[in-house]
Amino acid sequence: MVGVVVETPETNTLKVRLSQPTAYLAGQYFNIRIPIEGRPRPIQRAYSVGSSPTEGIEIVDFGIRETEGGLVSPVLVRNTPIGTKLEVRGPYGDFTWQEMDQGPVLLIGAGSGVVPLKSIIRYALDKGADVKMALLYSSKSAEYVIYDQELRDILSVAPWLKVFHTFTRDANDTKAHYHRRIDKEMIAEIFGQLDPKIAYICGPPEMVEDAEAALIALGMDPKMVKSEKYD
Ligand SMILES: Cc1cc2nc3c(=O)[nH]c(=O)nc-3n(C[C@H](O)[C@H](O)[C@H](O)COP(=O)(O)OP(=O)(O)OC[C@H]3O[C@@H](n4cnc5c(N)ncnc54)[C@H](O)[C@@H]3O)c2cc1C
Repeated sequence: MVGVVVETPETNTLKVRLSQPTAYLAGQYFNIRIPIEGRPRPIQRAYSVGSSPTEGIEIVDFGIRETEGGLVSPVLVRNTPIGTKLEVRGPYGDFTWQEMDQGPVLLIGAGSGVVPLKSIIRYALDKGADVKMALLYSSKSAEYVIYDQELRDILSVAPWLKVFHTFTRDANDTKAHYHRRIDKEMIAEIFGQLDPKIAYICGPPEMVEDAEAALIALGMDPKMVKSEKYD
């Protein structure tokens, strides 16, 4: 591990230098395995890459949120100093977007579910892809928005991107378009503006399942609705 960026009170970006350059696609994940005190064997969890392969394939960014009472994420967020050797395997997964997938692209994420979605946005930006994208992103409040500055920076140069924040624990912050959990009415509004051909949903299983159902009810082909459940 070669660097840490504090993103929010509970999420850090870990910059990991891979033992050898490794090709991966925007949206994929790796497995990270670490020793845990009191456990006979190392414990493994999946973590999406938040960076894009266009930024290099030697150092990758993982956006890791501390799950209260969890075994692995609290160690990665609170107790993994720069220089720590991590066992990392991958890449895995087909939650990926490439230019041939085209668009418009609807991205829906809650909490750390934004990690692979940001990888996709960064990839599209770096590739100069001419495709409309909208991100619907749920956070507790402004201070829990992961990649806040990076998303603003991208928005300032990417007229093809729209970002809709919803804050679930702050009813007043006008930076958010909505102040409730992601629901089908919210999805329908953004769907109406974007007319997406492909959608990516990432986060807690219940949110992912509800958003999938909402998109299919709006007429999307289930094959064009990709999801990644963080369970
Ligand atoms: C493909 C994929 C990609 C992912 N990418 C990311 C990512 O980019 N960023 C990210 O932050 N996360 C990501 N995740 C989630 C991540 O893999 C872990 O699930 C998460 O970090 C929690 O792991 P943990 O070891 O800290 O918690 P765990 O030890 O798995 O515990 C999870 C929760 O269950 C509770 N629990 C555990 N055991 C018990 C028990 N016996 N009884 C009651 N409660 C219990 C814990 O208290 C805790 O609240 C991803 C998951 C998948 C599947």
